[in-house]
Amino acid sequence: MADSFDIIVIGSGPAGYVCAIRAAQLGMKVACVEKRATLGGTCLNIGCIPSKALLQSSENFHETLHSWKDHGIVVEGVKLDLDRMQDRKGEVVTANVKGVEFLFNKNKIAWLKGSGRIVAPGKVDVGGTIYDAKHIVIATGSESVPLPGVAVDEDRIVTSTGALELDEVPGHLVVVGGGVIGLELGSVWRRLGAKVTVVEFLDRILPGMDNEVAKTFQRVLTKQGFAFKLSTKVTAATKDDTGVSLTLEAVKGGGAETLRADVVLVAIGRRAYTEHLGLAEAGVETDARGRVKTDAHFATNIAGIYAIGDVIAGPMLAHKAEDEGVALAEILAGQAGHVNYAAIPGIVYTWPEVASVGETEETLKEAGIAYVVGKFPFTANGRARAMGMTDGFVKILADKTSDKLLGAHIVGPDAGALIAEIVTAIEFGASAEDVARICHAHPTLSEAVKEAALAAEGRAIHI
Ligand SMILES: Cc1cc2nc3c(=O)[nH]c(=O)nc-3n(C[C@H](O)[C@H](O)[C@H](O)COP(=O)(O)OP(=O)(O)OC[C@H]3O[C@@H](n4cnc5c(N)ncnc54)[C@H](O)[C@@H]3O)c2cc1C
Repeated sequence: MADSFDIIVIGSGPAGYVCAIRAAQLGMKVACVEKRATLGGTCLNIGCIPSKALLQSSENFHETLHSWKDHGIVVEGVKLDLDRMQDRKGEVVTANVKGVEFLFNKNKIAWLKGSGRIVAPGKVDVGGTIYDAKHIVIATGSESVPLPGVAVDEDRIVTSTGALELDEVPGHLVVVGGGVIGLELGSVWRRLGAKVTVVEFLDRILPGMDNEVAKTFQRVLTKQGFAFKLSTKVTAATKDDTGVSLTLEAVKGGGAETLRADVVLVAIGRRAYTEHLGLAEAGVETDARGRVKTDAHFATNIAGIYAIGDVIAGPMLAHKAEDEGVALAEILAGQAGHVNYAAIPGIVYTWPEVASVGETEETLKEAGIAYVVGKFPFTANGRARAMGMTDGFVKILADKTSDKLLGAHIVGPDAGALIAEIVTAIEFGASAEDVARICHAHPTLSEAVKEAALAAEGRAIHI
């Protein structure tokens, strides 16, 4: 007879593997079903980790070529060894996925290899064997949204997965979609020498992020050599021996134009992945966008079946998925697991980075909430000057009456690390004044956060 478990988690991405580990820590007998050859999901295999490895390597290459001479460092004969760069990325991925396997062994979590299908509440089929569980957790993640008229072959027309695997630098990379993934991977190939054009349906990049930040970021990327075609849609793609011809149309109408590309990256978003999971047969409800519907405690409409991560509503981010994994395991153990969705940071790991948490000016205006803005530019920060990285600013939004922090948006060096302070402050219900009165070491980039908090009260020192 097949094993039975307290919890079977389907999917070993950040939602699934973290839920499995936390549940095992809490004394439950846990299995995790994963059909990929390695653990870690999209994030570790084809997402966060390989993209950050290539972002780091390409940044190093670009810096060596373009920035060091300004510091008085002359390096001649700099060459790109793309094979080594890709191998290194593979090594980083392997170390991470093996790390999850180690943690599974350490926590005595059974890895059920294969595709999991829910055959009934409490029963999961993996490769023809039915396993029993008190609780089933759906953590099957997401996949790229296809673009009608543009057939992906992961060679010349690629998703993010193919864009991480290119074995030569494309002459011209056209990125369809001006969101986080498109801009990160566009940056990788731009730094390595490609001409990069971003085609975006909306009239702005980074939809959902603060508008002023997005505009500044677009200016910075344009300085770096990116070209943008906003309010433009791609309606068709034709491949030939030497590349791809894309048909572009202005969203507002008008004639079509053709854009030639060596490689096209389709990055128009991701959607919940629930194929072959047996949801309909099990009676598990999904919403209009195919996401598994859950209540505030991650429970679906069927007793004993839960869902977390990219497959449910909310930002498609690894740390959101992880926190949901922990919260659900704790709920199932009878504890009070909880995720504060008002304090989930979002980061674009380009250079400069873009980081954001909480409300934007746009969402506050829409909600009719009176707020104050405190802004501080990196041009006025001593450390940023010393680094030669003065593009961007910190912007803090606080409630006009109570001064409570409502959001923060940063474009600038190390924005992803800097935002953590504001996330912590929001989590603790702090005011802008609280942040302004905290002692920040000098000279650090974090002083720009303090100054922005001071600016919210009209008393920044260095501007
Ligand atoms: C290029 C790229 C870069 C990204 N960068 C970042 C970043 O820097 N920071 C960030 O926060 N987020 C990033 N993301 C998003 C992040 O990867 C996702 O939010 C995260 O992986 C979601 O975790 P998850 O566990 O919900 O799903 P996933 O990581 O997608 O994992 C789901 C797993 O379930 C498995 N599975 C699916 N169905 C079944 C089944 N029936 N049986 C068995 N196994 C199944 C899949 O094989 C997969 O391994 C990036 C994504 C991409 C594509």
